Amino acid sequence: MSITETAIASAEAHSAHNYHPLPIVVASAEGAWMTDVEGRRYLDLLAGYSALNFGHGNRRLIDAAKTQLERVTLTSRAFHHDRFADFCTELAALCGMETVLPMNTGAEAVETAVKTARKWGYRVKGVPDGMAKIIVASDNFHGRTTTIVSFSTDPEARADFGPYTPGFEIVPYGDLTAMREAMTENTVAVLIEPIQGEAGVLVPPAGYLPGVRELTRERNVLFVADEIQSGLGRTGKTFALEHEGVVPDMYLLGKALGGGVVPVSAVVSSADVLGVFRPGEHGSTFGGNPLACAVALEVITMLRTGEYQQRAAELGDHLHRELGLLTGGGAVEAVRGRGLWAGVDIAPALGTGREISERLMELGVLVKDTHGSTIRIAPPLVISKEDLDWGLDRLRSVLNA
Ligand SMILES: *Cc1c(COP(=O)(O)O)cnc(C)c1O
Repeated sequence: MSITETAIASAEAHSAHNYHPLPIVVASAEGAWMTDVEGRRYLDLLAGYSALNFGHGNRRLIDAAKTQLERVTLTSRAFHHDRFADFCTELAALCGMETVLPMNTGAEAVETAVKTARKWGYRVKGVPDGMAKIIVASDNFHGRTTTIVSFSTDPEARADFGPYTPGFEIVPYGDLTAMREAMTENTVAVLIEPIQGEAGVLVPPAGYLPGVRELTRERNVLFVADEIQSGLGRTGKTFALEHEGVVPDMYLLGKALGGGVVPVSAVVSSADVLGVFRPGEHGSTFGGNPLACAVALEVITMLRTGEYQQRAAELGDHLHRELGLLTGGGAVEAVRGRGLWAGVDIAPALGTGREISERLMELGVLVKDTHGSTIRIAPPLVISKEDLDWGLDRLRSVLNA
């Protein structure tokens, strides 16, 4: 067996098989490139599902982490620490909001939003106890907790994990009429992804998101935007909602907020909404820890110049122009997305998304299928145009083979 095969076999012997990774064993990485245990190099067009927007081993983020590692890494929220205020202030400013509640993983940010919206519903909106409803969209992906999978429409994510948490209404994504009809006096929030990543990088019809904004404002319902994957530069703007001129009541952030170094997530909203919490009502041992704050603060500082967003916009235009040329030839059925983020529907006759991903891997390019024959392309925003073109060349050769 090769070094790679041996490493995979022993990983499989002692780990739960809740993933089906491509057969590559990474040993190191820098920028948009990863190197495996046998010294082969691969272009990373997944970027840790957008957790690595700033690339592998980003100097500024690694330095921020190293400096903080030598000072203090964890206090718990039982005490104040000296990185916390700056993190919250800067993140609130980046979002144009007032208040931050830090957590660790994306799913925890979503859970926090569910709790916030319900509590806000009872305390502020006046919904009768236990009656709060949250509207979500079909084909959503918001994480893996029992409550979150309760409102998933993906049988793989949901089956066998019941009993399910009640209190959610599922409406078709992109259908404003269905959302209006689902709304009642007891609706406290609409929770949606401005672009559905895991569903295949689905961009809703123009006017949908502004329509959701108008509807939620009219009906005194919180608009909760899950920007965990779409936010922080990926689409060419800080937030995907900006493309439609929409400001939500609450942003959920994660993934890139931790710079690919540490898990950092946050709920960012108004003082009114997050003001529903009193000490003891919600929390996390690691949420807002000094190391997380130091790294996230550097991420926020980098985003405040706008250079990464601009890069994603420019390279994204190039990416979509090149991918657009592939449609019409029969090999690619559709391309969706914004900025450096694309869902590419490959003609099923050419293979599943998984098979295409495996062939690309053999040529030194790493992508991930979403489902069916769709692959997602989401390189680190620091990728060079030359490297991106090199990856696109490999994609063309796989499609032409
Ligand atoms: C990844 C993701 C989550 C969950 O984040 P985890 O850190 O994996 O818990 C939630 N929402 C969206 C849109 C995501 O892409």
